[in-house]
Amino acid sequence: MARMTRHVDQRGETDYQAQLAAIGRELGRWEGPVVLISHVDPDGDAFGSTLALKRALEALGKRALLPLEPPRFLAFLARDGELSPPLTELPADCLLVILDAADRERATGAPLLGAAMTINIDHHGTNDRFGDLSLVEPGKAATALIVKDLLDAMRFRWTVDVATPCLTGILTDTGNFRFGNTDRTVLEAAGALIDVGIPYAELTDRLQWRHPDYFRMLGEVMQTVDFHLEGRLVTACLTGAMRERIGESDDDSDDFVGLIRYAEGSKVAALLKERPGGVKLSVRSRDGVSAQAICLELGGGGHVAAAGATVHGDLKEAERLLIAATERELARHPA
Ligand code: 5GP
Ligand code: MN
Repeated sequence: MARMTRHVDQRGETDYQAQLAAIGRELGRWEGPVVLISHVDPDGDAFGSTLALKRALEALGKRALLPLEPPRFLAFLARDGELSPPLTELPADCLLVILDAADRERATGAPLLGAAMTINIDHHGTNDRFGDLSLVEPGKAATALIVKDLLDAMRFRWTVDVATPCLTGILTDTGNFRFGNTDRTVLEAAGALIDVGIPYAELTDRLQWRHPDYFRMLGEVMQTVDFHLEGRLVTACLTGAMRERIGESDDDSDDFVGLIRYAEGSKVAALLKERPGGVKLSVRSRDGVSAQAICLELGGGGHVAAAGATVHGDLKEAERLLIAATERELARHPA
């Protein structure tokens, strides 16, 4: 049995290296423009992995476009003019690279049709491998880690400019090396990136900066904290009324759910954001309870420990659906 497992692992590793090599070859020989896109509501991994690859391709003499609007607190990573508005059509003979987006519906920034070639690089287990070439590795903690491996396979000479967004993606998706997806390979990859010359403490400090409105919004959202299902589910809400009072700090509210998930006794945490046309749920879980299963049931997706969904209806209805889906998932995990 042990031998078989080792055999499968080795083959998996070889497949991964072969896929990296195949994608590296296409990128290396591509002469036309390259368009890089990611998922809606881009996070540090979506933005970090696309920005790192864009800069690397430019260093290799290629023309690369990144039509992406980062959340306000990550905007400092890009230089003026480095990002494009969403594209309504793709340039001729373009290579479209989609990073960190689990499915076609979540990909945004440019049309998916009309590229000369499409490459899909991701770490969501639910990715349906759309694209002429797809490299999906759910075992990787961040898409930025796959970008790191890809650039290493291409023998890219790392610069701080490329290493910084790449490390940002890794930091984001591992919760600054605190989540269960953090292992030796993650820390070694991060170490290699830091060795390129990243001012690490400066970067991690800068990544925590938030607009003053963020803290006013945090105060209001924390007043809505509520417990359900004997404290195993903790929720908080960001309402349209709060947004009207405080402004567009919604952009920066990603980590609110990361705060309430530490409520003692909770297995599932959810932030419910009221938006025009529905409620966006950000769900986190622990101890094998699946945020992914809860969100799949609500029409969304993501990872086992971190997932999301948008449900139609008002906050009350969204909360009702969330509690019911969470109760069913918790029933699969008797305490
Ligand atoms: P967040 O709660 O930070 O928006 O998302 C957590 C994870 O779930 C991310 O990997 C994100 O891509 C994924 N996710 C969030 N919302 C959705 C959704 O509506 N559909 C799918 N398929 N994935 C989502
Ligand atoms: Mn990711």
